[in-house]
Amino acid sequence: RQTQRLDKVLTHMGYGSRSDIKRQVKQGIITVNGRTIKDSGLQVHPYNDQIEVNGERVVFREYIYIMLHKPPGVISATEDTRERTVLDLLSAEERHFEPFPVGRLDKDTEGLLLLTNDGKLAHELLSPRRHVPKTYEATVSGHVTEEDIHQFAAGVELDDGYVTLPAQLTILRHEHLQQADKEVISYISLVIHEGKFHQVKRMFEAVGKKVTYLKRTAMGPLTLDEQLPLGSYRELTHEELAWIG
Ligand code: URA
Repeated sequence: RQTQRLDKVLTHMGYGSRSDIKRQVKQGIITVNGRTIKDSGLQVHPYNDQIEVNGERVVFREYIYIMLHKPPGVISATEDTRERTVLDLLSAEERHFEPFPVGRLDKDTEGLLLLTNDGKLAHELLSPRRHVPKTYEATVSGHVTEEDIHQFAAGVELDDGYVTLPAQLTILRHEHLQQADKEVISYISLVIHEGKFHQVKRMFEAVGKKVTYLKRTAMGPLTLDEQLPLGSYRELTHEELAWIG
């Protein structure tokens, strides 16, 4: 890799603005390969040179990969004039890397959302050609039936005429709200291999039912960490990164 200005590297890693770095250089607290630096514009190899601030090694990295348990009520965007976004849930430390959501979940949808600044990886995960499977759990008002399972497996026609790719619908259980069996709630899981706008909700609309709760539990080999409370996040592990990378 090519060299970069020291102040740029340290700014990227969250050590402050360029003038902050200049000040730290003046204070003599920054060393590169053991030598105290005089010039904040020094060209360094961010991965190979040993950069230390206050005696602490700066481990350079370019990318960040975050698993967020998206809560309802925030939108999958990086900025919005009125609504809270998923980025508002991150601390300044992560926001510094300028991550963005890989795909979208509706404002009222919960669950697994990946955030990264790695455009190439995001592009690959979202590529329609890759058909990355996404698993959802949903509560549906209405009686989801075997017939719906077959319809989803064959493809359903959405309101705009698009016919969905085969999707795997599993009925987890039914709840009967009335003895007469008129009002039924269905708990289901669904795996889809594409990501049309409001796809899950529109697939159920196509069979005359309504999604009242929706949560994404997996995307490709990534599964939502159930230890993560709603609204919290963690970085991907090396293993998870290897799965998706
Ligand atoms: N399908 C939907 O309808 N909404 C989502 O947020 C994700 C998939």
